[in-house]
Amino acid sequence: MASGARLVILGKQGAGKGTQSVRLSHYLAVPHISTGDMLRAAVKAGTEFGQLAKSYMDSGELIPDDVIMGIVEDRLAEPDASRGFLLDGFPRTAIQAEALDEMIKPHLIDLAIDLDVPTELVLKRLSSRRVCQTCGANYSLEAPPKLNWTCDLCGGEVVQRPDDTEVAIRRRLDLYDKATAPLIEFYSQRNLLVSVDGVGTPDEVMERLVAVVNKARYSRSAQ
Ligand code: ADP
Ligand code: ZN
Repeated sequence: MASGARLVILGKQGAGKGTQSVRLSHYLAVPHISTGDMLRAAVKAGTEFGQLAKSYMDSGELIPDDVIMGIVEDRLAEPDASRGFLLDGFPRTAIQAEALDEMIKPHLIDLAIDLDVPTELVLKRLSSRRVCQTCGANYSLEAPPKLNWTCDLCGGEVVQRPDDTEVAIRRRLDLYDKATAPLIEFYSQRNLLVSVDGVGTPDEVMERLVAVVNKARYSRSAQ
C-alpha cells in the first residue's frame, strides 16, 4: 500500500464504521468517503435528490444501485482520492462491488476490513445512539453531551437519527444480511479481506485496525 491505501470498511449498522473511519482516514491521510454522510448532506441541503434519498433512508431501504454508483464514481474522480480512500458504506451490494472494481481500474482495493460486532450489541448501540444534527458527532444515552443534548464540539442539536427507529433498524440489519454480508465472501475469495473485532472501546478497536492495515502494508511492500 505504498502509494496510499485504497480501503473498504464493511460491518453492520452500529458496528462503529463511522467513528473508526474518521480516525483511520486521518491516520492514513486519505479521504473518508461515507455514502451515508454524503446522502445526509443532500437531505440537509433540501435538494430534490435529497428529498428522494430521505424517503429511502428513513425507512431503512437502500438507494438504487445506479444512483449511488454515480455519486461514488464522481467522488472518486476528485483529486484528493487519486492516492487512496477509505470507503464507508459502499459497496453495499454485489453490483456495487463489481462497479467499484471498474471505477478504480487498473488498481485494486488494498484491503476490505470487516468490522465485526454481534447483532445483540449493535441493536443496543443503535437504539441508544444520538447524533449531532450539525456536525454528525456521535453520542448515546450512556454517553450524552455535557450540556442538555447540545453538541460538545459545535453546539448543534443532538437527536436520534430518523432511521434509528425500531422498524428501520430491523430493516437495515435485514438488508445487511441479505445484500452486504455476501461481500465478505466476495473479498475473501480475492484474498483481500481481514476481520477485526469491533467490540471494545473506540481506542482498542482503532489499535486493532492500525495493526491490520500496517500488516497488509508490510506484506504488500515485501512482495
Ligand atoms: P447505516 O450503515 O447505519 O445504515 P449509513 O449512514 O451508512 O448508515 O447509511 C444510511 C442510509 O443511506 C442507508 O440506510 C441507505 O438508505 C443509504 N445508503 C448509504 N450507502 C448506500 C449504498 N452504498 N447503497 C444504497 N444505499 C445507501
Ligand atoms: Zn456537532
